[in-house]
Amino acid sequence: MKKNHLQKSGICALLAVLAMCACTNKDSEAAGSPSAASSVQMMELNQNLTPVKADDDFRSTYEVFVYSFADSDNDGIGDLKGLISKLDYIEDLGFNEIWLMPVCPSDTYHKYDVNDYKDIDPEYGTMDDFDALIKECDQRGIEVIVDLVLNHTSDTHEWFREAHEYLKELPEDWEASAEYCPYFDYYNFSRDAGDGYSPLSDTNWYYEARFWSEMPDLNLDSEKVRSEISDIMKFWLDHGVHGFRLDAVTSYYTGNNEKNIEFLKWLVAEGKKLNPECYFVAEGWTDRNTFAQYYASGIDSMFDFSFANNDGVIASVIKGSDANAYGEAQVREQELFASYNENYINAPFYTNHDMARSAGYYPNDDGSKVKTAIAMNLFMRGNAFVYYGEELGMKGSGKDENKRAPMYWSDDPEAEFMCTGPIDMDEVKMVFPSYEAQKDDPLSIYNYAKQALKIRNSFKEITHGEVAMQYDACNNRVTAYTKSYEGSTILIVMNLSGEAAEADLSSAAEFSELKAVLNTNEEKIELNDSTLKLPGWSIAVLGKKQ
Ligand code: CA
Repeated sequence: MKKNHLQKSGICALLAVLAMCACTNKDSEAAGSPSAASSVQMMELNQNLTPVKADDDFRSTYEVFVYSFADSDNDGIGDLKGLISKLDYIEDLGFNEIWLMPVCPSDTYHKYDVNDYKDIDPEYGTMDDFDALIKECDQRGIEVIVDLVLNHTSDTHEWFREAHEYLKELPEDWEASAEYCPYFDYYNFSRDAGDGYSPLSDTNWYYEARFWSEMPDLNLDSEKVRSEISDIMKFWLDHGVHGFRLDAVTSYYTGNNEKNIEFLKWLVAEGKKLNPECYFVAEGWTDRNTFAQYYASGIDSMFDFSFANNDGVIASVIKGSDANAYGEAQVREQELFASYNENYINAPFYTNHDMARSAGYYPNDDGSKVKTAIAMNLFMRGNAFVYYGEELGMKGSGKDENKRAPMYWSDDPEAEFMCTGPIDMDEVKMVFPSYEAQKDDPLSIYNYAKQALKIRNSFKEITHGEVAMQYDACNNRVTAYTKSYEGSTILIVMNLSGEAAEADLSSAAEFSELKAVLNTNEEKIELNDSTLKLPGWSIAVLGKKQ
């Protein structure tokens, strides 16, 4: 892959922040309130776009927590049948891949402690339901990737229970051996209480359990464990999954990136041996320079933690730091990631099930900031991930359960498909309306997200292209950059402030056509000759005239 160089393109742009007062009706236009806007510009202009069917792993992926998504049988817990009923919703939004958080049997509501890797948790349904889900997704061109939690199992997993029984019976002065109990080798048992080790009840042994005593760490050096992992991947690939989201890869060998990368290299090769198309994306929750190194394993994607969360690049820029930081960080990443693996596919995301939801990042936001953040996430190259409910501006922060609140289909908790949410969840008060109230409002967060996805899916320059800053068209609240893919280039200009702005694009004369726009209010983006007028919090995609 060609390295990208900053292109100072000689656009001579004069950018003036107009003293136009923020439109008077703006405050009353909270994201979901019915609006008289019959002519929101993006609804008209973007009608001309034609989304391209994805045929590789540069996708738009929706992260689903089945437990809280859609309940089909009124027990309050989301399930696979409920998810199947909502596939039209997911497809209609513009997603072409789903990441399912763990669906295997588990003792916890979140199911990150698996006790059987080859089945579906009865709360969620059956393997037949899963097969039906895959079939329905396949008909819609939606790929499914499942969470693969390999750092640890549940302490109720048969492997751990067998090993525990063996050590309980083992006479004090006998040497423990996997010869007598193969599962002794599946975990890291020790006679000593090491760092991150928990005491094994009714024995004088300890076992490694970094996250929680009920989640014993697997011994990933064990050939038998590796063979089990290979069987597990085969099982799910045979059931039609497209690949795996790998949980907690930096914890495989805690504190040892080199060993983690070495294990990942084995894992990825093994998966691709089973199916060359098998896709992997990993969670390495650490700084950019560190998770970038994991690309050396040959893994397809690493989650791009540097853009995510309340302190990541996207939220920081929206909260007022230099607008160019958004494009510049992408330019740096293009070079950094490619230096480890030129076939890398970045996995940008903005929030996930471990992070506070975005609606809490911006006090007094009328929805414009939440919307713009969604676009900034979706305008990035690679496989872009969106956590369920972010397209509605759902709220949720504090304890983990609150971040995993029921999908806000309706204001009525008794409405069809509504879930009750994790038992220990606090009452989560939403600031933006439910899907039911947003769906027909052209200025809702939901419709904005749908337009942003439509734009993403219509331009390979966005999903696949490289970023080059166009500094002459930028000031600190308006940023401009090009994205190029296979000889085609588009110009993207973002006004990342609440005030109207003007940009002079006279020396970028080739970008003379407004191809797509994202508006957060009824004011229009206008291109007159070479002057681009941008209302507050608006985004323009410009291309060459056909
Ligand atoms: Ca249910």
